[in-house]
Amino acid sequence: DTDVPWVLGTQLTTRSGPIARAPEGSPVLMIEAHDFAARKPYHHHKLTLVFAAMRHFRDRLRDAGYEVIYITAESFADGLATFFDDYPEARLVAMRSPSYGSERRFRELIEAADGDVRFVDNELFVSTRQAFDEWANADPDDETPTFKHEPMYRWLRRETGMLMNGDQPVGGEWNYDDENREFPDETWTAPPTPSAAPDEQTVETAAWVDATFETWGNTAVDTFPWPVTRKQACEALTQFIDERLGEFGRYQDAMRADDWAMAHSLLGSSINLGLLHPVEVIDAITDAYESRDLPLNAVEGCIRQILGWREFMRHVYRHAMPALAEANQLDATASLPAFYWDGDTEMECLSQTISEVHDRGYSHHIQRLMVLANFATLWGVEPSELNDWFHATYVDAYHWVTTPNVIEMGQYGHGVFATKPYVSSANYIDKMSDYCSDCKYYKTKTTGENACPFNALYWDFLDRNEAQLRSNHRMGLMYSHVDDKQETDEMAAIRERVAELRTKAVDGRL
Ligand code: FAD
Repeated sequence: DTDVPWVLGTQLTTRSGPIARAPEGSPVLMIEAHDFAARKPYHHHKLTLVFAAMRHFRDRLRDAGYEVIYITAESFADGLATFFDDYPEARLVAMRSPSYGSERRFRELIEAADGDVRFVDNELFVSTRQAFDEWANADPDDETPTFKHEPMYRWLRRETGMLMNGDQPVGGEWNYDDENREFPDETWTAPPTPSAAPDEQTVETAAWVDATFETWGNTAVDTFPWPVTRKQACEALTQFIDERLGEFGRYQDAMRADDWAMAHSLLGSSINLGLLHPVEVIDAITDAYESRDLPLNAVEGCIRQILGWREFMRHVYRHAMPALAEANQLDATASLPAFYWDGDTEMECLSQTISEVHDRGYSHHIQRLMVLANFATLWGVEPSELNDWFHATYVDAYHWVTTPNVIEMGQYGHGVFATKPYVSSANYIDKMSDYCSDCKYYKTKTTGENACPFNALYWDFLDRNEAQLRSNHRMGLMYSHVDDKQETDEMAAIRERVAELRTKAVDGRL
């Protein structure tokens, strides 16, 4: 039997996995399956990104002398059947996808095609499944496991030596999160974003995506900012480190209407496709810290996201699936308001953020968490519906990473790591953004005409979920305010306002 590396569309690298160990000129399988792209109204940029990156990778492999078997097929079932018809003696070797159940599904398809496959560990993360499970002492039979991010992050810092001085964290503290919450004054300008024009392959793929699929979002390719090759991804990494990283820390949580990227790295889509390895990104950040005068809160803040949160989400997802995808511990049953799709709302924070997602398939973390997920949680949106929305509309979205971020961090759906819901009234959004100053809604009003919907919804959320949340000691202070409102007529007025908001949303007038 000949081993044939099978490279999935999110593993576009020659540096890891079976392809890295294959002999020169080796055959390599890639399957461009199209049916998944028709299953959701994906963002045009997302499909363009994935398909253009796969096609570029194919061409690069061919230039490097690999024999690339590139099968374009309706489904993986068809693509695998074609492959094993042509190469009955071959055995596929593939890295596991982090997506739940994919190994089982692929095995079934390969068996049906009379083929053979061997799956190996996914090497596109910093930590392995085995190392995490040993460290966490994870019990595979535990149906309600819980995990904590901070200890895992410290373990991985120690384990990898990243940003460490011997056994001590560089700078003496593990975490500088409290230095990452400033809002810039008016004189601050956000650092420039990368501005490479899309290449021919991307332009062609974009036109083909447009003609082939029902997509959501901006279809204009001249504003497509996402790297589709390793070279472009490396350039984006250098641009981030040279021009943006220094500002990443202080304003990490800030949102400004005129700055879609602030100082965020914009590297998520490249890391999730395999164009960049998380270790090389962290190493580049650390090298820059050692050779230049960069603030530690920026460097640690960024490394914490990649080494900490990204790894954590992957392992939590493994352990909490399949329950996580359907988890809904607050029994939220509302549908997602239509304005998530059509952007038609007068709430400035939401309208601005949704139009940015529509433009590029991207918004930064705090917009995702404290605007989009916050509102949906307060509204009582069924978590899996919001998860579907994120999965369809973001360029960096894959089931393994949206599911824990949206359902757990964003909506407190499960309890596998979140200890309380990330919800807030207008107050937080006003403190961390400039949206409220241009909004028709009054940030300080809770009820009455043009009161900011976040305010009434916030108190209504706490009131509605009292049975689940009051006993949570981290919510104690908030429930003392709820008590005050319940004792007066205020809560009744809040409920009335929320009923009115729900009617307005149905009529498209929110
Ligand atoms: P930066 O802010 O520059 O951060 C650097 C890198 O750290 C990111 O590129 C990413 O690789 C990693 N990272 C940071 N936070 C997280 C996190 N919570 N989970 C995993 N990795 C993280 N991330 C995705 O990759 N895909 C998603 O579909 C996605 N959906 C999200 C939905 C919600 C509701 C929330 C709250 C978060 C979501 N995230 C998702 C996590 C995070 O918001 C994005 O990774 C980040 O905003 C990507 O932009 P960036 O590359 O500019 O990141």
